[in-house]
Parts: sequence; structure tokens; C-alpha cells
Amino acid sequence: MIYQRPKGTRDLFALELKRIEAINYQARQFFESSGYVEIKTPTFEFAQLFARSIGETTDIVEKEMYLFEVDKRQYVLRPEGTASVLRAFIENNLRVPARFLYIGPMFRKERPQKGRYREFLQIGIELLGEGEPFYDAEMIEQANRFLNLIGLNEKIIEINSIGCPECRRRYKEKLLQYLKPKIDRVCPDCQRRFQRNFLRIFDCKNKTCQIIYTDAPKITDNLCDQCLNHYNQVKNFLNAFSIEYIENKKLVRGLDYYTRTVFEFKHRGLGAQNTILAGGRYDLLMKELGGKDLACLGWAMGVERLLLILPENLPEIKQKKKIFIIVIGERFISEMVKIRGLIQQRDGICILGNPSATLKSQLKKANRIQSDYVIIFGEDEEKKGVYTVRNMETGYQESVEIKSFADYLNKLLQ
Ligand SMILES: [Zn+2]
Ligand SMILES: [Zn+2]
Repeated sequence: MIYQRPKGTRDLFALELKRIEAINYQARQFFESSGYVEIKTPTFEFAQLFARSIGETTDIVEKEMYLFEVDKRQYVLRPEGTASVLRAFIENNLRVPARFLYIGPMFRKERPQKGRYREFLQIGIELLGEGEPFYDAEMIEQANRFLNLIGLNEKIIEINSIGCPECRRRYKEKLLQYLKPKIDRVCPDCQRRFQRNFLRIFDCKNKTCQIIYTDAPKITDNLCDQCLNHYNQVKNFLNAFSIEYIENKKLVRGLDYYTRTVFEFKHRGLGAQNTILAGGRYDLLMKELGGKDLACLGWAMGVERLLLILPENLPEIKQKKKIFIIVIGERFISEMVKIRGLIQQRDGICILGNPSATLKSQLKKANRIQSDYVIIFGEDEEKKGVYTVRNMETGYQESVEIKSFADYLNKLLQ
């Protein structure tokens, strides 16, 4: 019997983990410098939290959640971060305005595809208690700056406003008028969406649906005065920040809780799955979850998809040198420990050979694990007061005096 990992999951190894770490590190540095503090919430929550926030009729809640029951209570592996952050904020009686950064795994039973996994890593930020349009623009500016910082300059920023429940109520009537004569031609998914989540029809990938929706009235053109004013101000502030953006009237978000501003950052290198960061305003969610009536906004990005388009060796990843230490004879173990200490202090990787084994078999092992250097200490070296250092790539070998060995390592491992 050979065990396999579940579909849509991954085993992560050295370089990939380093790349993930590098991005997480940069995110912490950057967003902490603009006032965000990190928050870690549990990876599982009561199922009801997400049904309430994301919406009972969304794809996520209907078919993508990892649900499980323990002691007659329903739990779920969290499918996204926002609901948990708000739950934590309310439960811990925190103060607004509050800026949170979260980094961690999310779980959704989606069809696995390139850069999309069922356990995936998200970096997200939430700004709670700020309703002014300035902050919508600031958040987009900061996300843009961060992506530039990690080397992602080629991106398209799309924005839209999906209004408030009031604008949507009026707009739905209008849309219904337009769609009535065509309703038989849209796909079954859209017919269902229209009953329960009508804005989402614009997310449909079906060609016929797309054509029908091209000329449909758009929510953006049907905003109430306050929502329109908010949207115009967001655009003014984006201009003031010198952010280039495209208005996409068909941009709606897949979750129920969004209001007014929504935005996505896209990248050409990702093809159809080209969204790298998405977010918006969700002014009604805090109250919906039992908190105060506070305006909030935020975004999240998938780390795996980001890594698909970033260069393999991110600049901040330093490749550490791997050094294999061979001593011939157990009486030299103390010497071995001394050398290892020096290497570890200098941030090198140090692997020990077995002192009871022959030089030949130890060298063989050093080669097999792809060591960059081997340091050898035996009776000869003891007599001369040196270490023998071999470069495993070139085969070049030299004797280094023990008393100047620390300086030698400084150069080797810099
Ligand atoms: Zn409105
Ligand atoms: Zn459709």
C-alpha cells in the first residue's frame, strides 16, 4: 500500500518553502511599516460563521467547504480569512480603527488547477472602522506598492463599485427587465444565480451568457447618490496617488458581503486565472456578525499564484553553503564540534560525517548529499596544525591553518 496525499494538496520542499518564507517576510515588514499588526486565527471555526458571512448561496458555502462534525457541532476548515478576523475582533473587544495582516492556509474543495490548491496560502489585510473613500484608495496604493516591492510590476488594477443594498434593489429590477426575454438562453447556473445572487451572473464564464450580459445594464451606472459620490472620490484619490486603474463594470466579487468598492489586481502571465489579489469594502459584515455597525475593507492574495509569476530565486533568498565535516577517528569529535560551531555562527549548513567510517566512504556521502565543501581533519592535519578544505565542485583542495580558520570561513560563507 502506497499512501498518497489528498488531491489538491502539496508537499513543499526546500526552495519552494524558502520562496514562501521570503514573501511572508516581505509582507510582514512592509505592512507592519504601514501600521498593520499580524493576527493569527484558528484554521478551523464553527461552520455557521462562514455561512453567515460569505453567504449561504455562494459556491464556497454550497460546495467547497471542508465540513466536519465533532461532538455534534459543525466545524469547517476556514475557506477565507475575513470572517475569522472580524469574529476575533468582536470576540476580543478590540478597538477601531484596527489594521490587521494575516498569513496562513485556507481550504476550499475547488477543482485543482495551475496555481490553485485545495489547501492554499493567503496573505490578507483588513482595515476595520474606516468608511471614508480615502482608505479604499490608500489600500489599493499599498497593495500596489507591495507587489512592486517583490518584483511584480506588470499588473492591471481593475476597480468597480457594486453599491449598497439600496442601489442593488433598484438595479435588480432594471436588470430583470433586460433579461426577461433572454432568460431561457442563459445557463442553468445563471438562472439559479439570478434567483439568489444576481450580481454573480457577471462572473459566468459561459460564452452565451457573456454575450447576453455585455449589453445588460450595469450596477456601476445605477448607484445611489451616496454610493456614486463614494466611488468618484475613490477614483479621485487613486489619481492623487498616481495609481493607474481600469474601470470594469462587470467586476463583482464572489462573496456576499462586499459593498461599494471592489478591486482586483491581474497579471497577464497567469492566463485565464489571472487574478493575483482581490478585495473591497464590506461595510455590512461587522454588524451582520454581531458587532458594531462599522465600515471595513480588505483584500487577500494567493501566495501560490504569486510564486508562479515571480522569478525562481527571489533576491532576498540567500543560498546557504553546505559543508560536510570529516574527522578520521572518534578522538577528533571535539574538533568536529568546534568547526561546526564556527560554521553555524556564520549561517552555513553543516553536516557531520561518521568519525568511525573511512575517509573514502565519508567523501562518498558528502558527494551524494551535494555538499559545496568538505573539511577534513585526521592525524596528518593534527601534526601540521591545519584543516584540509576541498571544494566539491572543482575538486580543488587546500590546507588552512587552524589559527586563521575563522577568518577563512568568514570569506567562504559571506
Ligand atoms: Zn447605494
Ligand atoms: Zn451563465
